[in-house]
This record gives sequence, C-alpha cells and structure tokens, in this order.
Amino acid sequence: MKIDFQGFEWYDNSTLTLIEDNCHRKGFFYREYPSGETDSNGEEIIGLENKVGPGADFGTCCHAALTTYYLQKLSGVEENDARMSAIARFAEKHEIHMSGHEPLANKHSLARGIEMVDGYFERFCIEDTDLIPLDMELGFMVLVEPTEEYDTPPFWYIGKADGFFQRTSFNDYVVMETKTTGGGVDREIMRLQMNRQPEGYVWAFRAMAEMSNMPLEVSGCVANVIGVKARENDYGRDIINISVNQTDHWLRETIWKVKRWRTIKEQAEGKGLSDMLAVFDRNTSHCTAYGLCPYYDLCNYGVSRATLRSFGPNLWNPLERE
Ligand code: SF4
Repeated sequence: MKIDFQGFEWYDNSTLTLIEDNCHRKGFFYREYPSGETDSNGEEIIGLENKVGPGADFGTCCHAALTTYYLQKLSGVEENDARMSAIARFAEKHEIHMSGHEPLANKHSLARGIEMVDGYFERFCIEDTDLIPLDMELGFMVLVEPTEEYDTPPFWYIGKADGFFQRTSFNDYVVMETKTTGGGVDREIMRLQMNRQPEGYVWAFRAMAEMSNMPLEVSGCVANVIGVKARENDYGRDIINISVNQTDHWLRETIWKVKRWRTIKEQAEGKGLSDMLAVFDRNTSHCTAYGLCPYYDLCNYGVSRATLRSFGPNLWNPLERE
C-alpha cells in the first residue's frame, strides 16, 4: 500500500474506520507496518494484508453480479440477458474467491448464491425502473483542504461507489451502497441510515459536481441490502436523503479523524517496536467484534518472524474494479 499520491496522503472510508474507529493497533499493522516486500517500482509495500472471511468474499461475488447486471442495462441489454450475464459473473467470481474457504457453509454455496442474486433482480425489477444506472464501481478521488483552524495538511479522500444512478421520479442523482449480511436485513438498513460511508460518498459526488460546474443534485444514497441465508431470500432497500448539513458535518469529522491519526503517528516516530506498539494502543473490545481480527496472533503471541509468516503485503487499492 502506497499511502501518498502526488505528495498527499490518501484515506478511504474502510481505512479510516479500521485505523481510527476500531483499534489503533489494527491501524498500525494495516497501514504502517513494513511488509518486507517490494512493488514493481522496487518500493517497499507498507502494511500487512487484512485477510477477510468467507462472508466478505461471498459479498464480493454478489457485488460483481450486480455491477454486471446494471452495466448491461446501461448498455441497453435486455433484462433476461442482463440477468444471465450477471449470474455467469457471479459463478466466475465464486470460483475465484470461494474455492479457498473450506468447507463452504450452505449459505455461501454457488447454488444458494445464484438463487440470491436471481431473487434480487426479481425483487427490485419494478423499483429499478426509476433508477437509470450511470456507472458502477465508480472510483473517485477528492482533495480535502482543511482550513487553517485545523492546522493539518491536505489529503485525498478516495473511494469507490457501488453505483451512481439518476432517479427519474425526482430528476436527481443517488449513489448506491450494497451490503450483504448474515444478520438482519432491517438492522443493516438502519446501520446505513446513520453511517459515515454514504455521507462521505455523497459529499464526494457533490464536491466533484461542483468542481466540474455540473448542476447535479446529488440527494442521497440507495441503501441496498442482500440477506445471506441458507434457505430463504431476504432483501431490503431504502433511499436515504442526506442533507448538506450532514455532509458538512461528515467533512469536519473526517478532518479531525485524519488529524488524530497523524498525531498518533508523530508520537510513534523514531521509537523502537515495543514503544511504538504502546503508542498505537490496543482496543481489545474489537478483537472478536466481527469475527476474529486478522492480526489477532500478532497481538496475542507478539510480533515475530513466526507470527508474521502468514501475512502478505497490504495490496488494497480502493480504486480497483472487481
Ligand atoms: S487483535 Fe485486537 S488489539 Fe490486536 S489489532 Fe486486532 S483488534 Fe486490535
């Protein structure tokens, strides 16, 4: 992971959540620890990979299917053909991402996955007639330039929206955020209704529209949820309006988060590993919060050649298309 671009650091939503909200120690391993491996330019890759479980990989397969479906619709492909292409894409991604997880729980099997995505198209085909897809997996990068009062250098806010749509009934624009969940669909919708990710994405799309002198009214986010269950299909959707006050607040909050992270890094500078680890303090209430933390062994048994052996470099690139 290279953390700067054109001289400015970059931050995306997942990174900010992981380094600042969850656990500073996790942030250290994820974004600051030298991996010992180099990239194609011979530069050392900083950060250790954050291995994800089958649930997240299964989610990646669903995202790929929805991306294909809406891109096909955007190209004018007929509904049934768009669905078939999406299902084929799901199967292809399932083969790539899920073959390493054994044994596969029923709910993550290829057959269940196909039922889930096919059920999604059926469930939302009427509502989707109001949404014209403009692009999917749309990467963005906006420079945040904090005012003097923050006393912290500019940084990029970068990310990748699952989709960007025009809503015909209101003649406005919305970003789409899709989540897959093994928990309750309604709960996931509630989580998205007050969540920094959609706020940040809407802020970024508004900022880009303003910079390009495009009078687009970006009014909110389509929160799109697929329940991942062994038997029945379950879906949820809500269009969340996000006000300018909310995105202004998000921006101020984000600047403070980045500033705090930078302060921690400064405090750790020049220290040996054990002092540095103490500065990047642990939040042990997060070790098992969403499954086992990928860095659990590093904290539990200590950082050593043996515990580091199973970690590759952090190659996360939020702008990359799946
Ligand atoms: S194991 Fe716990 S303390 Fe260690 S990085 Fe993960 S969440 Fe933080």
